[in-house]
Amino acid sequence: MNSTTASPEIAKKSDANFSLFNKLESYEHEQVVICSEPAAGLKAIIAIHDTTLGPALGGVRMWPYNSEEEAMHDVLRLSRAMTYKAAISGLNFGGGKAVIIGDPHSDKSEKLFRAFGRYVDSLGGRYLTAEDVGMEMQDMEWIHMETKFVTGIPRELGGSGDPSPVTARGVYMGMKACANKAYGHDSLEGLTIGIQGAGHVASYLAELVHKEGAELLISDIYQEKAKKLAEKVDAKVVGPDAIYEQDLDIFSPCALGAVINDQTIVELNCDIVAGGANNVLEDEDKHGQLLVDKGVIYAPDYVINAGGIINISSELEGYNEERALGKASRIYDVMLDILDYAEKQDLPPFKAANILAEQRIKEIGNLQSIRATNSHLSGRLGEIYFNDRN
Ligand code: NAD
Repeated sequence: MNSTTASPEIAKKSDANFSLFNKLESYEHEQVVICSEPAAGLKAIIAIHDTTLGPALGGVRMWPYNSEEEAMHDVLRLSRAMTYKAAISGLNFGGGKAVIIGDPHSDKSEKLFRAFGRYVDSLGGRYLTAEDVGMEMQDMEWIHMETKFVTGIPRELGGSGDPSPVTARGVYMGMKACANKAYGHDSLEGLTIGIQGAGHVASYLAELVHKEGAELLISDIYQEKAKKLAEKVDAKVVGPDAIYEQDLDIFSPCALGAVINDQTIVELNCDIVAGGANNVLEDEDKHGQLLVDKGVIYAPDYVINAGGIINISSELEGYNEERALGKASRIYDVMLDILDYAEKQDLPPFKAANILAEQRIKEIGNLQSIRATNSHLSGRLGEIYFNDRN
């Protein structure tokens, strides 16, 4: 059957495929893997964005997405951000991410995570997975039973464990760099900081800024969680929707993405937005520019939450917590460089960060044209090459 006689159903299907490929092309993804294992209840997507600098490294998130399109959109955005995150942090990794569609409170099982682990293994190291939202150590252990391409595994198994303390250190240092730019000093003492989320990253961050003498406001969709953290760090609890309109010096989104959007941006009343969540801006160009227009300094999320990837990449070199924390502290200088570059070039900070990350990918990628070793040439090709040279 040629295209002129194709049924409307077939035409519709090919349109849908076509738009997916368009999306992959515009985001510049290398590969997307759909993982389906009905017997294990697994519906997952692995997205590999760019492997110029090294294997794609990024966590797996479990979330009850409203639709498959929403899950696809999330994994494409998140994996792309991982490429930039690794590049700006000076790491030799590419960007990847995975999402498992399901409710982390009710849909977890050993067979589900082991099925996912097998898909990760099938990629032969092109994608290295790790813990993200909705995942726990036990889940990572199940994945690890099926593949060695997993990072952030428990300390007892030779891994680096929970990356959240190192992520929080990076967010804290990035926040201080922004304070330096806004107030001329990097002390957070006496500043009012609103933290959205009372999860892993938020809890470690809250302790760091509390120790430094900041006043804290905390929100979470689970009030009990917010209350528990607030008691620890002497903070006030505010409702999940009320956090945006608070009179703050720093707003720190540490829950989910797209929280700076058309609705919330008008409510925001702060000097700095600096948090641990990924993809904070719903529309990078539009909302990044609107923050500049409002006079708000925005710390690009992937820059200051890079402590997590710094931690898991340290695991691959032989883990040492002090070294990982030390590397995460360098986010202070990276953030200052970005803010300086943004000022000089008259660009919003997120654009400045993107340019600096892309520059590194290009520069290091170009080095690959220099043949440093022929050890990867095996079999007949290797023989010919070596014989020719001898
Ligand atoms: P987590 O699951 O421990 O915590 C997230 C918290 O946010 C939960 O308590 C949840 O109830 C709450 N939440 C969800 N929606 C909310 C809303 N609208 N308002 C208020 N609270 C809400 O996750 P985490 O590990 O702390 O990660 C938080 C964010 O940081 C995520 O976006 C994650 O991708 C990002 N991140 C985490 C790490 C890490 O090391 N854990 C590293 C880099 C980036």
